[in-house]
Amino acid sequence: MDESLKIVQDLYEKGYLTYPRTNSEYLATAEKGKIAKIIENIAAVGYPVKFKDKKTIFDDAKIESHSALTPTFKIPKKEALSENEYKVYQTVFRRFVAVFCSEDCVAQKTEIKVKIGDYEEFTLKGTIILEKGWTKFEDPPSKNKVLPNLKKGDKVNTDFQPKEKETSPPKHYTVETLNNFLKNPYRDLKAAAQDSEKEDDMEEYKAIFEGVEIGTEATRTGIIRNAEDSGYIELKNNSYYILGGGIFLIETLQRLGINMEKEKTAHLGRALKKVYRNEITVEDCVKLAEAEINEVFKQTSLPPEDDRDIGIAGEIVGKCPVCQNNVVRGRYNYGCMGYKEGCKFKISLEICKRIIPISAARDLLENGKTTKLKGFISKNDKPFDGALKLDGDKVVFDFS
Ligand SMILES: [Zn+2]
Repeated sequence: MDESLKIVQDLYEKGYLTYPRTNSEYLATAEKGKIAKIIENIAAVGYPVKFKDKKTIFDDAKIESHSALTPTFKIPKKEALSENEYKVYQTVFRRFVAVFCSEDCVAQKTEIKVKIGDYEEFTLKGTIILEKGWTKFEDPPSKNKVLPNLKKGDKVNTDFQPKEKETSPPKHYTVETLNNFLKNPYRDLKAAAQDSEKEDDMEEYKAIFEGVEIGTEATRTGIIRNAEDSGYIELKNNSYYILGGGIFLIETLQRLGINMEKEKTAHLGRALKKVYRNEITVEDCVKLAEAEINEVFKQTSLPPEDDRDIGIAGEIVGKCPVCQNNVVRGRYNYGCMGYKEGCKFKISLEICKRIIPISAARDLLENGKTTKLKGFISKNDKPFDGALKLDGDKVVFDFS
């Protein structure tokens, strides 16, 4: 990404591409004349393109300051570009040609509904592309899928078997999915992957323009590179993996009670966008960030080191008082491994804004109670001390 951004910048400076730091895939209506000219130029060198005046292409509501990246009047000769420059240029150029392709893409779509007795109906969908149209220049969102040739009323054999399977953990982030996550941290990645033929992306644009994103088009690559350079993550075979330093960072932040969730970043991102729109001043925004930082340091009397030790993920803490399975330190709590059988017992890693150290969790499981713990903060922001005890499967305060 880092390299691509540099190349796009170079191509922009040489006049081959439009302004690179855009967050939109749409074009401004004011540019219709200019785009029509560019299309003429591209048609002149032999591509099947024609101007289309469509809201799915020109939409001012989905542009903040700069239109989508497009080629310009100046079409470079292949020899004038380095290999990587050519690749990047072609990516933008081919998308442009696909969008304004003058040939129709003809696809045959099939849908088969299979009814299983009176119990259930399954739907199968197939697509075959008959005439390539724009897909000559960009891969279509879904590959050809050919369904068997059935007639209405045909009977099919079904063979249903119960199957035992294990769920698999989420996939590692790739260069593409990590960038997409930072761009819109609230978008359901799975839904986005399935529904690549999305009908309306207004919600997505609203979120971006409100500032609900991590970094910007211009800074995102730097953020990721920093995390790599700092030894927090590494890129292997196009997937990002967390390194020891990254795990240490996250656990340290948790231990110090510093909230680094995406909500926080989006919160400050929103404030920046308000400055951009002249709704608040730069000073207001700085104050907000100051308040956040003050919040971090406000815990003037941090509990001693061993009182902040939450162990490491996966560490066994003790036996579950409900079902006797192991209780293990997880991401947000010390949780019972009997959850597969329905046990819901857990002890939060943080109660009333105070870290619950693994030593206290051990006490709870072994003795049913902890010693007095200092530094809880009530809902009314009042500090208080207290012990924790087990009340059935619940963890409650014991002020006796
Ligand atoms: Zn249990």
